Amino acid sequence: MKGKKKYLGIAAAGLVLLAALGVILFKALTPSNGIGSISGRDPIPQEADIYVPYIAGTTDADGFMRGMDVSSVLALYNSWQEADGSSHFKNFEGEELDIQGFFNLLHDTGTNYIRLRVWNDPFDADGNGYGGGNVDINAAIEMGQYATNAGMKVLIDFHYSDFWADPNKQMVPKAWADLTIDEKADALYEYTKDCLLQLKDAGVDVGMVQVGNETTNGFCGEVNWPNITQLFSAGSRAVREVDSDILVAIHFTNPEKAGNLANRAKKLYNYEVDYDVFACSYYPFWHGSLENLTTVLKDVAETYDKKVVVAETSWAFTLEDGDGNGNTVAVGSNDTVGDYEFSAQGQASEIAGVIQAVKNVGESGIGVFYWEPAWIPVQVYDGTDAKLAENRALWEKFGSGWASSYAGVYDPNDAGRYYGGSAVDNQALFDFEGNPLESLNTYKYVQTGTTGAEIRVTGVESPVLDYTQGDALSLPTELKVTYSAASPENLPVVWNEAEAAAVDMNTPGTYTVHGIVMVSEEEVEAVCAVTVKKAGLLKNPGFEDADMAMYKVEGSSGNDRTNDDPHSGSYSFHFYNSGTVDFTVEQTVTLNAGHYVFSLYAQGGDVGEDANTFAYVKIGDNVISEPFTLIGWVAWQNPEVSFDVDEDGVEVTVGVNITAAQNGAWGTLDDWELLTDSE
Ligand code: CA
Repeated sequence: MKGKKKYLGIAAAGLVLLAALGVILFKALTPSNGIGSISGRDPIPQEADIYVPYIAGTTDADGFMRGMDVSSVLALYNSWQEADGSSHFKNFEGEELDIQGFFNLLHDTGTNYIRLRVWNDPFDADGNGYGGGNVDINAAIEMGQYATNAGMKVLIDFHYSDFWADPNKQMVPKAWADLTIDEKADALYEYTKDCLLQLKDAGVDVGMVQVGNETTNGFCGEVNWPNITQLFSAGSRAVREVDSDILVAIHFTNPEKAGNLANRAKKLYNYEVDYDVFACSYYPFWHGSLENLTTVLKDVAETYDKKVVVAETSWAFTLEDGDGNGNTVAVGSNDTVGDYEFSAQGQASEIAGVIQAVKNVGESGIGVFYWEPAWIPVQVYDGTDAKLAENRALWEKFGSGWASSYAGVYDPNDAGRYYGGSAVDNQALFDFEGNPLESLNTYKYVQTGTTGAEIRVTGVESPVLDYTQGDALSLPTELKVTYSAASPENLPVVWNEAEAAAVDMNTPGTYTVHGIVMVSEEEVEAVCAVTVKKAGLLKNPGFEDADMAMYKVEGSSGNDRTNDDPHSGSYSFHFYNSGTVDFTVEQTVTLNAGHYVFSLYAQGGDVGEDANTFAYVKIGDNVISEPFTLIGWVAWQNPEVSFDVDEDGVEVTVGVNITAAQNGAWGTLDDWELLTDSE
């Protein structure tokens, strides 16, 4: 993960918020029974303001990794030295902590592993840092020493890039750009060995090394598996030669995509990559259910006899932004709701849920790492331009934001466009001023469980079903129930039969069906909204089907069906070109006489001032067009073209043309519709 703003807004299944209806209290939710505790008895729960379940097998004696990635923290301390001379982080007594004190606090609240990303050369030719903490090996050594002094082990997360590497980009370091694959493997081997020897000389207690970060779709500029795995093997060999006790991890993401992790694990096996730990990212807002996470990790662990960890996870304590740079998890266009409360309790529940999911893998599940619990604002944004300017200056000078403008030369399409501050200040385990939240104690609390906080139902999923005339109605059999202080679960729902029978799938309209979910012997009401739309005249109007034969696409390249930014469903028609854009996408249908309306949804940006963007209808030589303006990400435009057809059997073409003279225009088209009043 990283911090760019484009992800803003989480996918929101509607939830009926029950707070207004009066809450339902659980009688007493018993913590899970201890298995494997040495005495045979569960430890005594600690008194706390948040509920955290006891999870057996998570102590130091069990060898369980309770990790935190705090890679940005050195850059924050450097920023504060210039900004106000204070160190914003405080302990629970309100005392300011120097950077060693900060690492000691993490240790004292239950963390036993620190994860640090490392970029080869995150600096431009003039020595300006790219941001994201400017974490090269020197910065990692300094932070690694603080971690070691505090009694924690260190996971070194080599990106083998000069900046962020993730599923969307795996850019080769500048210095390696012109190397052949064999030369690159040698360079990667030498670099890894050199870095680890430096860490060792500096006394840093490295326990695990990641060879690559979220290398799901590529690695270090390579996209084919013989090359990718050759590089993995080169990195692994370097780690083995430096210290055979250091665990070698390979890191992927997107556990929610069917077969994804199994496929990557098979690649590692087929190409004989020598590694110990299969690592995966898990963010609840993107990566599916915890049950699925356990299933896919267990499959890899058992098939290939590997250890597994969750190398990144997080949740937000608020939907507010702290520093003037929009956050990854934020209020979207709809009411934003999620699997957990946006609170310290919600964070604790999320962390405990992920730990339990990893423990459910069995002996092979050895750890969880929280991502960036300490990337708080360089200074709290007060809404003024002056403060924002001060923050920007600090992000630029010390690399304490997710990207500085200097990164644009290396990464023009992402950092170059969206550079700024922390997109995750609301998922820290500290508030914006640096005071620790109760959730910071979660790693300590899971070893005993807590007592003192109650669990409430906070919501039940309210499905919104969209159908086209003539479809068959299918109401869900289970709904997701969320709690104030536990992971969500799916429970059976019983729908009102009379209301369900009243839904007329042949008559366009909207219908409501009520249901009852039983939660701990209490009845909780659920609501399902059903919309039946008039059947449209276009094929594949929402781009959900892989078959695109009904569309004709002409003009500049790179425009096609993708699962980027759909208006509804999972797919859209996406366009982007680093150069100029000029293309049409259209569909031809045969219509009878009547009045028609063609419409669609479009969003996008960077088209420049002279862009020409319009929907059109062609009937013979006659063209009717309706211009629209792309004004930004998910700012949906809904152009409509009305027209008449005078006789039966006329070929009509409907489509969209986007012409932008500025480089780098991007966007998506979705939910095309061609409707008629006549039969
Ligand atoms: Ca922010």
